[in-house]
Amino acid sequence: MNIHEYQGKDILKRYGVRVQEGIVAETAEEAVEAAKKLTEQTGTGWHVIKAQIHAGGRGKGGGVKLAKNLDQVRELSEQIIGMQLVTKQTGAEGRKVHKVLVAQDVYYPGESETKEYYMSVLLDRTSGKNVIIYTTEGGMDIEEVAEAHPEKIHKEYIDPRVGLQGFQARKIAFNLGVEGEAYKEMVKFVSALYKAYDDTDSAMFEINPVLKTSDNKILAVDAKVNLDDNALYRHKDFAALRDTNEEDPLEVEASESNLNYVKLDGNVGCMVNGAGLAMATMDIIKLSGGEPANFLDVGGGANAQTVEAGFRIILKDPNVKAILINIFGGIVRCDRVANGVVEAYKNIGDIRVPIIVRLQGTNAEEGARIIDESGLKVYSAVLLKDAAQKVKEVLAGQEQQA
Ligand code: GDP
Ligand code: MN
Repeated sequence: MNIHEYQGKDILKRYGVRVQEGIVAETAEEAVEAAKKLTEQTGTGWHVIKAQIHAGGRGKGGGVKLAKNLDQVRELSEQIIGMQLVTKQTGAEGRKVHKVLVAQDVYYPGESETKEYYMSVLLDRTSGKNVIIYTTEGGMDIEEVAEAHPEKIHKEYIDPRVGLQGFQARKIAFNLGVEGEAYKEMVKFVSALYKAYDDTDSAMFEINPVLKTSDNKILAVDAKVNLDDNALYRHKDFAALRDTNEEDPLEVEASESNLNYVKLDGNVGCMVNGAGLAMATMDIIKLSGGEPANFLDVGGGANAQTVEAGFRIILKDPNVKAILINIFGGIVRCDRVANGVVEAYKNIGDIRVPIIVRLQGTNAEEGARIIDESGLKVYSAVLLKDAAQKVKEVLAGQEQQA
């Protein structure tokens, strides 16, 4: 589960990581109040207005702006709240901004230069360890640094059983070239960041930039956090951090019915039981000239209700031109699935797209018979090859009509 920058920074603060202070706001008025409060707390006169969406690259897309007085705070907040922000990570349609983080300006001039670094902690599945990735080239796209200067990207692997060792934190601070007070601050920063990542069972904490201020403090200016969905049951309070505005509405609906659904941009909707079979089915759809409109795993215990919920979700996608249902009847018998399909079809009514149902396994023939005798515009197939052929014919037929 992804969370917003302001939520990530709240978690970091709890673990003693110094952050660029900020207050979240949903209206320009709230933003001005937030700015006044921040001035009291931090003494800053300048503020940055930062769009809160679950995507990076906001600065370049116009979602991070510097305000030098309260009028500008109001003006820029009005501009950013409600905008459709397009960044490298949002896709062309962008994301609507519902909230801004009003943050203290931390790039103030002082005794030394400010300097931006990059640091992330994530799970490295290959080594079965956590890894801290860091570089002196902060503030820019890490992918670009990796391409242009791969030698400048450092990795420190951490055995999760023993945790981050003191010498590792010191090595990181040393490699980043920080000295004196900033060196001590960086060691503390790394240790606290790792603890935040570890304690929250996160999949990733990415801080870009980590900033050395002109008075030698080290702080997190940005926070991109991905909490591990599989560990959320251990952190009940994290449920409140979910922002369904940032998720595809169909995916939200699917998760409410306990369906594993990922929207894609093709034209053939598919409903399958089991993730592996779903992947194979998507391959077959591609091989037969279609493009999968979604990934949908209804799970092992599919029944009439799950089939109906899946149907409804697939049908809400306007791109869907045909639906392929591919169910292996192991635990669930094919005749029950067939009855479920027929029932769901009747309940929903007015289904205009052709549906190809392929049932294999226990009572497969019985299932096919139920579909064939239902009188509905549903095609049955026992072999996947036949189902794929049917999809091809249906799509070709539609092209001719168009
Ligand atoms: P991202 O573009 O989504 O990664 O958002 P960031 O939070 O990383 O901010 C983008 C950029 O805004 C940073 O790299 C900084 O250059 C700039 N920025 C962030 N905070 C401040 C600030 O307090 N003062 C100034 N002057 N610039 C800032
Ligand atoms: Mn950033």
